[in-house]
Amino acid sequence: MKVPSVTCGTHGRQPKTYVCQHIVQSLKDGEPKGFWWSRGPDGIWDAVCNECNALSQEDFDALGPDNIGVLCLGCFEDAAALNEVELD
Ligand SMILES: [Zn+2]
Ligand SMILES: [Zn+2]
Repeated sequence: MKVPSVTCGTHGRQPKTYVCQHIVQSLKDGEPKGFWWSRGPDGIWDAVCNECNALSQEDFDALGPDNIGVLCLGCFEDAAALNEVELD
């Protein structure tokens, strides 16, 4: 299955990833907030910060779509590196 792509100003055309807003923010302020990643069966990467990871699925879902941001895979890797997390 093909992963949808997104065009990033820094990294060009890249696979799309989904992260919580706090991780988007951490790329802006350079402050690590945790990086809990997973990769779905469809090949799509996603990640949440420490705070979101501590929520129950129900509480997380209650935050709604506003809590979810899209990053290119390059930015996703940058956010992982910021948190000293390795992707494999
Ligand atoms: Zn978060
Ligand atoms: Zn990027």
